[in-house]
Amino acid sequence: EAKRNGRNRYEYFTQEMDVQARARRSMENDLREAITENQMRLYYQPITNSEQHAIIGYEALMRWHHPSKGLIMPAEFIPLAEETGLIHSLGAWALYEACHEAKKWAGGQTVSVNLSPVQFKNSTLISLVEGALRESGLEPWRLEVEITESVLLNDTLGNIRTLQNLKALGVLIALDDFGTGYSSLSYLRSFPFDKIKIDRSFINDMSDSREALAIIRAITGMSRSLDIQITAEGVESREQFDKLKEEGCTLFQGYFFGRPQPSELRLTVL
Ligand code: C2E
Ligand code: MG
Ligand code: MG
Ligand code: MG
Repeated sequence: EAKRNGRNRYEYFTQEMDVQARARRSMENDLREAITENQMRLYYQPITNSEQHAIIGYEALMRWHHPSKGLIMPAEFIPLAEETGLIHSLGAWALYEACHEAKKWAGGQTVSVNLSPVQFKNSTLISLVEGALRESGLEPWRLEVEITESVLLNDTLGNIRTLQNLKALGVLIALDDFGTGYSSLSYLRSFPFDKIKIDRSFINDMSDSREALAIIRAITGMSRSLDIQITAEGVESREQFDKLKEEGCTLFQGYFFGRPQPSELRLTVL
């Protein structure tokens, strides 16, 4: 009896795996055609400063308009794109698209593009960024690339070189989701970041967690001695905005100001 149950469970398990594997393969096939079928979009979320209360830039966030499944968020396809290598073509598309779009913005704002660690480790990254700038005519200081702490973990010298090559092009570099990874604050001195984006989990927890607030303070405190701007991510309320200003954050992003929108619908005045 037990043996039979065991086998049934095993068969059920393999069936489950089969269903999952098939779903994954079908998504991979769909993703392979997404760019050529014109299903990818970039949505733009405003980034504001505290003093002038103006929109200084936008973060480009990828959305997949799937023909039958509708809108698919990056959390559902970026990991698969990274595993399959499709991130290289998706990422290249995003860079070109974002630069061309930003070039049209009358306000001259910056555009921030997320780089996957997989892209960061690719030797063609620098010529890719160079090509996007050249073909779009976008001034390099209007492009910002966002990378996460994970790229700093291994191959430190190689990574510093890549960051320096990016800086040499004149683009800005932001460290995204800061606080969620493993790098220590002192570590930041070795890398040429223009901005640090505090992960939104800290902003979310700030009001009832002393620890979250202490981390925000440590980051803003250190940024004053280095020449680094601090962006608060995921600001959802006036209370959070006021508090973060008081703590020394200089740039802000979150639903309180505006949600990611297609370029033509994006928020342009506050
Ligand atoms: P991220 O780079 O940290 O982007 C910020 C995420 O927080 C976005 O989610 C944004 O919609 C969301 N967000 C902004 N303000 C608020 C807020 O006030 N409250 C809440 N709850 N969320 C807020 P999204 O668009 O789903 O993107 C998720 C992640 O997917 C991004 O995190 C980024 O890591 C990745 N991603 C998005 N687009 C790209 C891309 O073009 N290339 C790569 N490699 N990764 C991308
Ligand atoms: Mg980002
Ligand atoms: Mg982030
Ligand atoms: Mg994030």
